[in-house]
Amino acid sequence: MRTCLECETKLVGREDKKFCNDSCRNSYNNKINKDSNNLMRNTNNQLRKNYRILCLLNEDGKTKILTSKLLQQGFDFQLFTSIYQTKSGTTYYFVYDQGYMNIDHEYCLLVIRK
Ligand SMILES: [Zn+2]
Repeated sequence: MRTCLECETKLVGREDKKFCNDSCRNSYNNKINKDSNNLMRNTNNQLRKNYRILCLLNEDGKTKILTSKLLQQGFDFQLFTSIYQTKSGTTYYFVYDQGYMNIDHEYCLLVIRK
């Protein structure tokens, strides 16, 4: 038995019908958009936070820093806007123009893209 994706009322009629009416279709789609908007908002907030942290800790434009200091501030290493890999194989992660690379397990080098 097919039911409406929004209100779970039994559906009659066309085989490919997913909703009983436009209002069910609209509220279902609004909910989906709202979820993805929340995800986007949270992601953007964390990116902004990451950016603020890098700016704050990298006053000189090039700073060696304990990775744990970034974590303490709430830095999320999963979120960045671009990656740059040098010929020698070093990977820089950027949040806009602020970036970092892992020196070793303990230290990061913070840089700014010119
Ligand atoms: Zn419905």
